[in-house]
Amino acid sequence: MSSSPIASGPLVRRNSRRVVISHGGREIVVGGGAPVMVQSMTNTDTADAIGTAIQIKDLARAGSEVVRLTVNTPEAAAAVPAIREQLDRMGVDVPLVGDFHYNGHTLLTEYPECAQALSKYRINPGNVGKGAKRDTQFAQMIEVACKYDKPVRIGVNWGSLDQALLARIMDENAGRAEPWSAQAVMYEALVTSAIENAQRAEELGMAGDRIILSCKVSGVQDLIAVYRELARRCDYPLHLGLTEAGMGSKGIVASTAALSVLLQEGIGDTIRISLTPEPGGDRTKEVVVGQEILQTMGLRKFTPMVIACPGCGRTTSTVFQDLADKIQTFLREQMPVWKGKYPGVEAMNVAVMGCIVNGPGESKHANIGISLPGTGESPAAPVFIDGEKKMTLRGEHIAEEFQKVVLDYVESHYGQGHPA
Ligand code: SF4
Repeated sequence: MSSSPIASGPLVRRNSRRVVISHGGREIVVGGGAPVMVQSMTNTDTADAIGTAIQIKDLARAGSEVVRLTVNTPEAAAAVPAIREQLDRMGVDVPLVGDFHYNGHTLLTEYPECAQALSKYRINPGNVGKGAKRDTQFAQMIEVACKYDKPVRIGVNWGSLDQALLARIMDENAGRAEPWSAQAVMYEALVTSAIENAQRAEELGMAGDRIILSCKVSGVQDLIAVYRELARRCDYPLHLGLTEAGMGSKGIVASTAALSVLLQEGIGDTIRISLTPEPGGDRTKEVVVGQEILQTMGLRKFTPMVIACPGCGRTTSTVFQDLADKIQTFLREQMPVWKGKYPGVEAMNVAVMGCIVNGPGESKHANIGISLPGTGESPAAPVFIDGEKKMTLRGEHIAEEFQKVVLDYVESHYGQGHPA
């Protein structure tokens, strides 16, 4: 049999070092071929220990494997151990990352319990200090990380790029026979800042397998260009994220566009989706979007997926939209419990289709599928299980009955005692 020229082939992951982030008995591996990890960041005032612990619990429950929180004041640093204790009491063992700018050297030194409670430190080399103080303050942070054996992320951001380094790269550029464009100089400054600071941390005694790098920018093409170069020049694990991605669909689309290209090229060991929440919006959305990027790309499986048609003139009611929404919400809400109880359930597909045109066909490809009646079709909804039509639902309570069918399927196919 000859092989088809059409193949979706496995992605070749970039060969990076392996960094372990731990808390208690939980270990999260970043890089070294480990599955791409999803993380998030709080937006509460860290000094509000209870409010922050609650948001971290929600983010962890949504699937965030690491949660970062800002540590910007003495009050915030003092609250970190209380946040950690509160989470431990609630049984939430997600590792915490402290985000430090300007005064990180002071806070980490003066609040040793904060330094110990955190599982990783994020250091922005552009915001460590100016002039002669810069090297000393950077060294102080690395010293604390080594003392408590914590990994660090050297997180460069073009909104806070090290100006002295940028000036040096610009000077070097001015000396070139054919100077680079301003954009190329900016890329070079970002990549150089990340790599030089990682090398400096190693010179100060930090092990090479305790360092993760990031170089965040807010433009899709800029991010792709910078990370391709970063990946080419080093083997530290890379944290991906489009900074200041924006609100709503724009933030989601821009993040997905940028991260998908890089992930497809095997670049990226951990991701964060920096969405601006809508007023009153749910912070956990950034976790859901991160998971959905990885799952729809086939890189990881987190929660059963709902395949739903977009609807068209053949559907004049919102019945199937409501059903698709209810089922997707139901599946996601069940996952914290199902994860331990029904191993493998995260790979299940459920199809909710609006009419007979593609409904039965698509439903047959899913584990469970329902084809709702379109306009003018008889008011019956055939249900397909593992490719075969098993029943037809009718009447007012199709949604509840279909949910029951899904539950029975999960219990019989993923519950204890199932042969598979
Ligand atoms: S399955 Fe039917 S309702 Fe859904 S988009 Fe296709 S034709 Fe329209």
